[in-house]
Amino acid sequence: MKYDYLIVGAGLFGATFAHLANNQGKRCLVIDKRPHSGGNLYCEKIEGINVHKYGAHIFHTSDKEVWDFVNSIVPFNRYTNSPIAMAPDGNLYNLPFNMNTFYQMWGVKTPEEAMAKLEEQRRDALDKMLQEGVSEPRNLEEQALTLIGKDIYEQLIKGYTEKQWGRKCTQLPAFIIKRLPVRLTFDNNYFNDNYQGIPIGGYNQLINGLLDGVEVKLNSDFFNNREYWESLADKIVFTGKIDEFYDYRYGKLEYRTVDFNTKILDESNHQGNAVVNYTSASVPYTRIIEHKHFETFGNAVYDNPKTVISEEHSTEWHDGMEPFYPVNDERNQTVYAQYKELADKELNVIFGGRLAEYKYYDMAPIIAKVISYFKSDEK
Ligand code: UDP
Repeated sequence: MKYDYLIVGAGLFGATFAHLANNQGKRCLVIDKRPHSGGNLYCEKIEGINVHKYGAHIFHTSDKEVWDFVNSIVPFNRYTNSPIAMAPDGNLYNLPFNMNTFYQMWGVKTPEEAMAKLEEQRRDALDKMLQEGVSEPRNLEEQALTLIGKDIYEQLIKGYTEKQWGRKCTQLPAFIIKRLPVRLTFDNNYFNDNYQGIPIGGYNQLINGLLDGVEVKLNSDFFNNREYWESLADKIVFTGKIDEFYDYRYGKLEYRTVDFNTKILDESNHQGNAVVNYTSASVPYTRIIEHKHFETFGNAVYDNPKTVISEEHSTEWHDGMEPFYPVNDERNQTVYAQYKELADKELNVIFGGRLAEYKYYDMAPIIAKVISYFKSDEK
């Protein structure tokens, strides 16, 4: 065999795997059907700004090993995610839900006042669950109502979530919303992690650094010539769609994807923040990203007379589009479980990443997973 590993997909899982395998002297070939590496991390330079072509990516982790690893490839900047929400009531609110949000929503000024208000807001939903003899929230709506109450659910969660997932909150699993912290402090940092940032110079620097010294073939679709590609290596690292790998024998898995309406504007500072969420059901997009704020801070944004923004329209995935998010409902989880059973029996194929594991992964856990693979003896 010419290679130890054929790595299908040059996204974060594939590139990290190739990097660590290469460091151990393994022969790797990375193939990707797209004309560029990086998967959905890929950025395009427009007007001197790194535009996140496939949606905003913010690296965050509390895992020092992962943070040191990515920073050894490229240094990261100090970007801290603190999105703003434009609500159906016409007001702006801070996210994640914290004392600033509670002050803006109810005028409460102390944690004690906020706690009392939250208690009142959650009461109906908690009583209802008690009456029905339910101990755990059964869906996202119940989770949100019992966690944060009805005002915030209606102003900041319901419209956004139903747009993002194209499904009712009552039909979505509770865990999606558990990603969002609720705090009784004035802290707008979206993430609880110790470390966060964006690679200086953009994500392409990270991917190119990971793939440095690795053979990469772009515009190469595994499924167009599967037998040939498989004949090249002892093991396959597959990061594409797991249902496609098994020829859809148990049916197709569903995904959500995002359509971007990207605009170059003749102004330096359009919205004053990288991320503004539009939480009303009547606004067609879920959020507007202003890319320069990921890499330029304070009044340095005025050094560039232009800016680039992307309106994100969340849509159902169809063939020919790039899949972004696995759909976390029961039907899809059941179908995935069948594919997973096949995957677990494979001796020479490693499945990794959002599409191959059908999992709503962040970036850092992907890297942690690859690092731990190389620490174990299974190779
Ligand atoms: N969410 C919400 N309102 C917001 C932002 C997020 O209700 O303004 C909910 C929504 O259900 C979403 C989940 O929180 O699916 C996770 O949001 P996150 O921003 O972490 O999603 P991602 O950036 O991965 O798309």
